[in-house]
Amino acid sequence: MTLNLTFAALARLTVHRIQNRWRDLLAILHGYCNDRPIKLNIPGESGGYLHWRCALKRGHDGKHRSRNAVWNDSGKVSHEPIQRPTGQPWERACTPTIRQARNLRRWHEAPVSRRTR
Ligand SMILES: [Zn+2]
Repeated sequence: MTLNLTFAALARLTVHRIQNRWRDLLAILHGYCNDRPIKLNIPGESGGYLHWRCALKRGHDGKHRSRNAVWNDSGKVSHEPIQRPTGQPWERACTPTIRQARNLRRWHEAPVSRRTR
């Protein structure tokens, strides 16, 4: 699988990655846990989305949460609605990091017998 991106698409991807990094940094500096359900970006890994970040404070007990979605440390997501769901003030783009994009590309390129999932 080859990936041919137009210049505009590559520019948009880069802007989203920089925005995501900046907002992740802001969240960490403001004391948020900021865990994400998707670590590797391999199909079947999580059930969550790339833009989800934990909106609880760093060092919290129990599962990570973004609004009504919760996940454990391995990223398995479940739906647990609460009265006042909480999110972070900064939205992320649903864009993989360079490493996550590489992981997904390698997963697709690998023979089915050698895939980890
Ligand atoms: Zn958390």
